[in-house]
Amino acid sequence: MTSVVAVLSLRRQRRLGLTPVPMDRFEDAKLRVKEATDLVALIESYLPLKPRGRQLLALCPFHAEKSPSFTVWPDSQHYYCFGCGKHGDVFTFLMEREGLTFREAMEQLAARAQIPLEGVFTGDRDRERRGPDPTQVLGEVAAFLQQQLHGADGAPARDYLDGRGLLAAAESWQLGFHPAEGALRAVAQQRRWPTAVLEAAGLLRGTREAFAGRVMFPIEDERGRVCGFGGRVLPGAPPRSDGTEQPKYINSPESPFFNKRQVLYGLHKCKQAGSRRIVVMEGYTDVIACHLAGFTGAVAALGTAFTREHARKVERYATDGVVLLFDGDRAGLQAAERAMKELVNSSVAVRIAMMSGAKDPADYVVAQPQEEPDAVTERRARFADLIDGADEALAAWFRLLRRRLDFTQAEQLEKAARECGALLQTVDSDLRRRALLAEMARHLAVPPETLARTLRRHQPRPQPAARDGGAPGTDPATAAATAAAPVPLPPPTPESAAERDVLAAVVQQPTLVAQATAEPPRTPAVGELLAMVAHAVAQGRTTRADVVRHVFAACAERPDLTAVLAIAIARADEIPDPAAFLAHLQRDRQRFRARDSARLLRQQLQDAQAAGDQATADRLTRELMEQLRQHRPRAAGG
Ligand SMILES: [Zn+2]
Repeated sequence: MTSVVAVLSLRRQRRLGLTPVPMDRFEDAKLRVKEATDLVALIESYLPLKPRGRQLLALCPFHAEKSPSFTVWPDSQHYYCFGCGKHGDVFTFLMEREGLTFREAMEQLAARAQIPLEGVFTGDRDRERRGPDPTQVLGEVAAFLQQQLHGADGAPARDYLDGRGLLAAAESWQLGFHPAEGALRAVAQQRRWPTAVLEAAGLLRGTREAFAGRVMFPIEDERGRVCGFGGRVLPGAPPRSDGTEQPKYINSPESPFFNKRQVLYGLHKCKQAGSRRIVVMEGYTDVIACHLAGFTGAVAALGTAFTREHARKVERYATDGVVLLFDGDRAGLQAAERAMKELVNSSVAVRIAMMSGAKDPADYVVAQPQEEPDAVTERRARFADLIDGADEALAAWFRLLRRRLDFTQAEQLEKAARECGALLQTVDSDLRRRALLAEMARHLAVPPETLARTLRRHQPRPQPAARDGGAPGTDPATAAATAAAPVPLPPPTPESAAERDVLAAVVQQPTLVAQATAEPPRTPAVGELLAMVAHAVAQGRTTRADVVRHVFAACAERPDLTAVLAIAIARADEIPDPAAFLAHLQRDRQRFRARDSARLLRQQLQDAQAAGDQATADRLTRELMEQLRQHRPRAAGG
C-alpha cells in the first residue's frame, strides 16, 4: 500500500482523499494557482491566438516574426516558440511578458483566482499585522479625487488639462482634482481610511491637506497599484499664507509603499501597451502626452534620476532597451553624466538622447489648437527620430566628456583616462569591465593596452581587467544573447527523424511507450524523453495531457529536450492512428539498423580480404547474406 501511495502524485492523493504527506505550503499554493489559471485565457488577454488542430498559434510576443511560431497546447497548458525557444507555463509567460519575478507572477495570478497566499512566502507576517493594504486605500482616494475632477469645483482643473491636451487621458490615467481643505478629511472619516496611510502618502500633514486645490496624478507601481500622488498647482492659484508662491509640482514623500528609486510613473501602462522600449523622461504630464500620441514606452522617474533600482525593475521587461531623454541644457548634461555612473552595472541596454534646448517631450507631441495635422505629424516624427537615434550610453558619456576635455592634448587625454578609470572601478563584473575598457580605448583612440597601463599607473590596486587589456569578443551582452538563444537541433538523419516520429506517436498515445522502447532509441534526447514518458506511465498517467505536462515539468531546465519534445507534440497532432504509425516506424528503424550493420560487415569483409584472412572473410560473407535474407524477405523470395 505504501508503495502505491508513494508513486501517486500529490494531486492524485488529494483527489482520492488519501492523507496527504505534509506538502510544502509553497508547492501546494503554486499547484492551486496553476490549476485555477487557464493559460489560453491568460495569453489571449495579451494577444490573439488562432486554433490549428489541437494547438493554438500566434505571432511570438518575445521575438519579432512575420509568420506565427508561438505555439500553445491547451491540454498540457504549455507554450513553446519554434522561433526563439521561449517556453513554459502560466508563471513563466507572465514573468516574461510583464518582467515579473516568480513571486510577483504568482501573487498576480493568485489574486486573479482569489486564492489567498497567507503564510506561503516567509517574511509576510509583518505585512499582515500592518492592517489594510495601503495601495488599496490610495486607490479609493484616487477614485474619489477623480470624481471631484468631473464635479462643479473641478472646472478649472478640467480647463487646465484641456489646455495641455491631457483631458482625453483623464479616464485612463485616473486624473483628479483635490477639493478645498476639509473635504478629504471628511470623506476619510466616513470611509474609514486610516489616517496613517493618508499621512504617509503626504495627503494629510498635521491639520493641513497638502494637495488642496491641485490637479492630481495618481502614481501607480508597475502592477497598477496606487502608491502615491503627484499634484500640480492650478494657474492663478492664491499664494500661500506666508505670501510665498506655491510650488508648481509636489509629490508624495517616500514611504514603505512608495520607493522613489524603484517606481516609474507610467510603467504599468507601458506594460499594458506591450512597449518593450522604455523611454524615461522627467514630468508626468510629458508621459501622459506621449502615451496619447502613441509613444507608449514613456515613463518618468519621480524626483530622482533613473536609478540602478529602476533599471533592475525593467531589465527583464525592456527587451528593446531603455532610452533616457534629457534636456540639452546644463542640468540635463549633468543628469546624463550621473546616469552613466548609476547604470554602468545594469544589464539593460541604456541609450541617451538629448533634446535640443529647453524643450519638453510634450512640446514635440501635443497638437496645438488650430495646428495643421501635417505639422503635428512632422513634429512627432522628429521626436521618434530623436529616440531612435539615441546614442549608446557610453558613447553619449564620451560626447559629454569631450565637451569638457580636449583629447588631442596629452594632459587632458590622461585626465579623461582617469575618469574612465573611476567609472571602471564601479563595475562589478570582470567580463563587463574588460568589454568597457576596450570600448573606452576605442573612444579615446588609444590601444587598450595603453589605457590599461595608464590606469594601472594611477591606481594603487591593480585592476583585474587591466591586467591583459581589453579582450574584444567578450562582450557580456553577446555572451548573454548566446546563452538565451534556443538550442539549435542538429539536422535530423533519416534515423533520428524516425525516432522523433516514434516520440510523437508515443506523445499521442502514451501507453505505446513500452513497445516504442523495445529497441532503445539511438538519439539521446529521444531516449531521455521516452524514459520520462515511461516513468509517467508507470505512475499511472496515461492521458496525453497528463503525460505531456509531466514530461514538460521534468525537463524544464533542459532546453535541448524541450525543443525536441515541442516538435514531437506538434507532430503528434498529425498522427491519426499512433499504433499503426509506430509499427510502420519500427519497421523503418529495423531497416536503418540492418543497413548500418550491413555497412559495418562490408567494411570488415573488405579489411579481411585485404589482409588475406580467407576464413574471416567467408564467415563475414555468410553473416552478410543471412542479414540480407532476413530484412529483404520479398527480394529474397522473388
Ligand atoms: Zn519567439
